[in-house]
Amino acid sequence: MKFIRVALAVPLMRFFDYLLPDELSVEVGSRVWVPFGRQKRVAIAVDFPVRSELPVNQLKQITAVLDEKTIFNAPTWTLLNWAAGYYQAPLGDALFSALPVKLRNGESAVKKSKTFWKLTALGEQALTDGSLNRAKKQAEAAKALSLAPLEKGNNAFAAGIWSALKEKALITEFEQTVESVSWQKTLGELPLTKAKNRLTLNKQQALALSRLLFQQGFRAFLLDGVTGSGKTEIYLQFIEETLKKGRQVLVLVPEIGLTPQTVNRFQARFNVEIDVLHSNLNDSQRLQVWQRARSGQSAVIIGTRSALFTQFHDLGAIILDEEHDASFKQQDGWRYHARDLAVVYAKQLNIPVILGSATPSLESLHNANQGKYTHIILSQRAGRATAAHSRLIDLKKQSVVNGLSGELLRKMDEHLQKGNQVLLFLNRRGFAPVLLCHECGWIATCSHCDKPLTYHQQQRVMRCHHCASQRPIPMQCADCGSTHLVTTGLGTEQLEKALKARFPQYGVTRIDRDSTARKGKLENHLNNIKQGKSRILIGTQMLAKGHHFPDVTLVALINVDSSLFSMDFRAEERLAQLYVQVAGRAGRAEKQGEVLLQTHYPEHPLLQRLLHEGYAAFARDALQMRHAMGLPPFSSQALFKAQSRQSEAAEQLLTRIADYFQQWKQVKNQPHLQILGAMPAPFAKKADQFRWQLLLQHPSRIELQRALADFHRDWEHKSSQVRLNLDVDPQDL
Ligand code: ADP
Ligand code: ZN
Ligand code: ZN
Repeated sequence: MKFIRVALAVPLMRFFDYLLPDELSVEVGSRVWVPFGRQKRVAIAVDFPVRSELPVNQLKQITAVLDEKTIFNAPTWTLLNWAAGYYQAPLGDALFSALPVKLRNGESAVKKSKTFWKLTALGEQALTDGSLNRAKKQAEAAKALSLAPLEKGNNAFAAGIWSALKEKALITEFEQTVESVSWQKTLGELPLTKAKNRLTLNKQQALALSRLLFQQGFRAFLLDGVTGSGKTEIYLQFIEETLKKGRQVLVLVPEIGLTPQTVNRFQARFNVEIDVLHSNLNDSQRLQVWQRARSGQSAVIIGTRSALFTQFHDLGAIILDEEHDASFKQQDGWRYHARDLAVVYAKQLNIPVILGSATPSLESLHNANQGKYTHIILSQRAGRATAAHSRLIDLKKQSVVNGLSGELLRKMDEHLQKGNQVLLFLNRRGFAPVLLCHECGWIATCSHCDKPLTYHQQQRVMRCHHCASQRPIPMQCADCGSTHLVTTGLGTEQLEKALKARFPQYGVTRIDRDSTARKGKLENHLNNIKQGKSRILIGTQMLAKGHHFPDVTLVALINVDSSLFSMDFRAEERLAQLYVQVAGRAGRAEKQGEVLLQTHYPEHPLLQRLLHEGYAAFARDALQMRHAMGLPPFSSQALFKAQSRQSEAAEQLLTRIADYFQQWKQVKNQPHLQILGAMPAPFAKKADQFRWQLLLQHPSRIELQRALADFHRDWEHKSSQVRLNLDVDPQDL
């Protein structure tokens, strides 16, 4: 008997030891079945220690071996191990999340072989000697086989024809795993691209592409190009060059960006196999894509953040579009940032990584300023579209009904009369965010979260947007019994109602999570918009990206004030990014676009900078401010989150952790470590759980990593009463 140490898919920072019978052979990275409590579980071998901490008689034996050889290729294994260390995540969580569900559940990773028909020598002869002349269909089938083997049960000929041919010994079956026929073999035979779709690059694009291609090995590029500057065309031509070398490409896009439009553009360009990791793939399809990428059969993989853990045969480049997008950060389970990991991975593989955006994150701009990333700027739009005009509307100086100023309404009239479409953004669904008593000020709140319930008029319910609980609309105030209840604040539902009344002649479409909950609804709405049946579009952030509406010429942000005074220091950056994104929606085709922002604070320096000088100027200011305040990217953060049904338990746990770091600070002589908390989280209660947090901040990423590593060595979290999470490089505070 030997010892085997395994990782399990449990959120615990520890491994488990078992006994391994001598006759079984496994490697680090192999899957095995193990008994765990009363269950049987899939586990991944991480080590074969010479001794175990537990006495041998307490160890159980593994049940079976699933893979004799590791199921992780070396690059992915290295990446996941590094990431689990950096994000202080259980390795088991990281490893299992990187596998398709079927493999997590213990299915075989070996591709099942398929059965094919091929011609026998006799069959070859029959083709020329005319012996099949009277059996036309059989002759046809045999002829087809002379070109290439055909899969049994998956071809255009009836089964009877094959059995007839087999009876005459003209054909025979053979088994094969289909991975050897890959696109690399056809390089040079078939043109790689469908050239007619290829655009001739303009000067800026050509220069950018040659800078990308000039570099050998690892380099991170920040492709910073205004919307419509032709970044995608650069990606496509860069991909082409990588494919020519016989190497694969990974394209990561934000959740919201994985639209058929995006995917079509890639598929329309290349004659190679492109696989898309959609959320609506079933488990078998996911496993297939995983196998195809690993064997080198697919040339390009497009997917959202977790696609980074796809295993490749020979990955030659990574492209990450909309690199500023928050969806690249995994927010639960083990919390990694796919953008940052993509750079780490590219470095490990010694390949280029391209981060593209019209509104780069301040983190990436900082890296570019420091020379860590090569900054490539595209300042001109590539197509014929011109940049939109932007203006602020001061809400203070006019009457505003249902969130709409007179000035905005006049502008809408103007654009609509010209036959164009108008797009309005409001990031708040429902009819109104608050229902209150006009007599005493009582507010209808969620008892689980202590936050106001949103009034949904259409579905006639009060709904909590934090925990999804709902209840009937109250008829009376719970405090004073008055029936005079009024809504306050504006949601998309109310906006829709107001606009339908004000513009009865133009269709109005609202796109938010409520209006698209049912399957097929989103497609319906988008079609109405494309066909011009709806001329006024209302949307939450859902509509800001990925969709192309050529007839939209006016875009308005109904109210941006909440972002100007947020507790989260990233709120302004997000607003600036949203503004640029939506401005890019206006006038994408040949029509001049216009963007309007409604605010009570038109003199706010951020808005002024952004509108008059653009995103780059805004970003310079914002970076200076972050520098002055010692905030990321000029420091590193880690956020402990504790939640419990008992508020004191969560608070006490974090207070003890805070004490640990206070001590660490002194013992290690680390005066620059800042320890903020324990304090209640911004949403101090959610779904009956009280939430507390503790923020660590250090000017040095490495020192902060040291502190966290020491903490994890010294601390074992045992309380079942309190759930504890750690978020390294948190994106939301
Ligand atoms: P981005 O990805 O930067 O938003 P796209 O690649 O989508 O930009 O390009 C914007 C528009 O400009 C598209 O309609 C595209 O077809 C067009 N375009 C891009 N490059 C060129 C070019 N070199 N010549 C003509 N049109 C171009
Ligand atoms: Zn009341
Ligand atoms: Zn709630």
